[in-house]
Amino acid sequence: MSRVFNFSAGPAALPEEVLKQAADEMLDWHGSGQSVMEMSHRGKEFISIAEGAEADLRELMGIPANYKVLFLQGGASLQFDMIPINLLRGKTVADYVNTGEWAKKAIKAAKVYTNVNVAASAEDKSFTYAPSQSSWKLNKDAAYVHYTANETIGGVEFNWVPETGDVPLVCDMSSNILSRAVDVSKYGLIYAGAQKNIGPAGLAIVVVRDDLIGKAQPTPPAMLDYKVHADADSMYNTPPTYSIYIAGLVFQYLKRNGGIAAMEQKNIEKANLLYNYLETTEFYRNPVAKSDRSRMNVPFTLKDAALDEEFLKGAKARGMTQLKGHRSVGGMRASIYNAMPVAGVQALVEYMKEFAATKG
Ligand SMILES: *Cc1c(COP(=O)(O)O)cnc(C)c1O
Repeated sequence: MSRVFNFSAGPAALPEEVLKQAADEMLDWHGSGQSVMEMSHRGKEFISIAEGAEADLRELMGIPANYKVLFLQGGASLQFDMIPINLLRGKTVADYVNTGEWAKKAIKAAKVYTNVNVAASAEDKSFTYAPSQSSWKLNKDAAYVHYTANETIGGVEFNWVPETGDVPLVCDMSSNILSRAVDVSKYGLIYAGAQKNIGPAGLAIVVVRDDLIGKAQPTPPAMLDYKVHADADSMYNTPPTYSIYIAGLVFQYLKRNGGIAAMEQKNIEKANLLYNYLETTEFYRNPVAKSDRSRMNVPFTLKDAALDEEFLKGAKARGMTQLKGHRSVGGMRASIYNAMPVAGVQALVEYMKEFAATKG
């Protein structure tokens, strides 16, 4: 069996040792005589898995005690709704920063519930940069300020944390959570779909400050109410048990391998390999402002788009898959999340050099 270097933007590669462990434990989890998939979510075995996953995530991210960690369903997209439903707390406006495709989706969802003040937008330059804080026009009455830490499609990442005073800062970290150190105490709420850096699609992780829970007006339907999920330790209904288990294995893997600090160093190394090469060539081009380039998603175009198919074919023949860019952007995109080994990026850069030399 040979595994490919999978550059998919999501669902994305998982650490091989996690997949092997899951395979080993598939038929008989820790002598229980059953698969995790078959366990009662109320039984002591699964409770220990869920509690372990939460404890490990808290340790990895340094989540303060006054924050709840929720394991929810519906991916990141359901949070686009749950955030305004829960966090408006009777207020009538929310601030959003428009940095690209994902921010736009969050904004569109929020408009159903409230007035949206677009405090800053990078649309003027086709979403190729992160608007600096000095350009933000925040509304002092806003219920919260929402931004997208990493635009998965555009390849734009914030390498700084916005200042919003007393207004809670809400962040979509779907595609860079656990890839770099984060000071959770600066946020009111952090959320992420799992399928980029954590585990199986469908699971979403929400880290939310206590005082923001239970103030929704009107009271939301139970499944959309953070309070209901927080009070029930994410077990109001049957949670996505197997996804939580795999996420837990990923957290253990991160802890065994030096935690977020080590992961961040590796991610910097991988991103540098790729961007440093892109700097030296005119054959490929990344449009993003240097200071805002994503460490996770690296979009690039070829000098001649007619060569795209051949590039992808050659990459596949060398065991590198899912490099095709998002349909809205075209070109290529290399997603190099935590689970992508340095060797994968080295192989990609080697291939890019070779391809440019023969076609340039
Ligand atoms: C993938 C992604 C989403 C959507 O996640 P779903 O789980 O498909 O809902 C939202 N925001 C960002 C930044 C993403 O990368």
